[in-house]
Amino acid sequence: MLDLRSLIRTIADHPKPGIQFRDVTTLFGDPAGFKQTIDTFVDRYRDQKISKVAGIDARGFILGGAMAYALGAGFVPIRKQGKLPHATVGRDYALEYGTDRIEMHLDAVHAGERVVLVDDLIATGGTAEAAAGLLTHAGAEIVEICFVIDLPDLGGRQRLEKHGHKVFALVPFEGH
Ligand code: AMP
Repeated sequence: MLDLRSLIRTIADHPKPGIQFRDVTTLFGDPAGFKQTIDTFVDRYRDQKISKVAGIDARGFILGGAMAYALGAGFVPIRKQGKLPHATVGRDYALEYGTDRIEMHLDAVHAGERVVLVDDLIATGGTAEAAAGLLTHAGAEIVEICFVIDLPDLGGRQRLEKHGHKVFALVPFEGH
């Protein structure tokens, strides 16, 4: 097994002072590292009767697309405002840096579907909370919310667990 942490690049003070940006492009660019990341998630959800994987714009698409293919599931993009062409539902949320709005197609998931939600990193949990809200409002059952990286000092996991969600992350990093 590879040490995935060593494949994640840290960029100090990006996109603003004080933020340690955890850059997963180096992990995604490593053939064995990317495969181990996807395989770990797929092994975890293989027997969970997942019908859709929902990925958060944009790094969640890279993970979610590969996971959905391997699980034989569909893929649902949860996108930044104004990108989806058909009727959408949306939620505003606060980021670790700034605010944003995410949207999902109204007909992307149906009541009772079993969905895994994925993103590269959980910080405050605001993004994932908004995305999960879109899915549950549509009637989907969120089996788990998974991430490559958790920043535990920012409390995102507890925030999602307070809403009754299960959370799984591969690599914790201290600090912001
Ligand atoms: P949050 O809503 O606070 O949990 O922020 C999570 C989202 O912001 C994810 O989509 C991440 O890609 C991005 N993000 C937040 N903080 C960082 C960080 N320190 N390094 C890389 N990405 C981050």
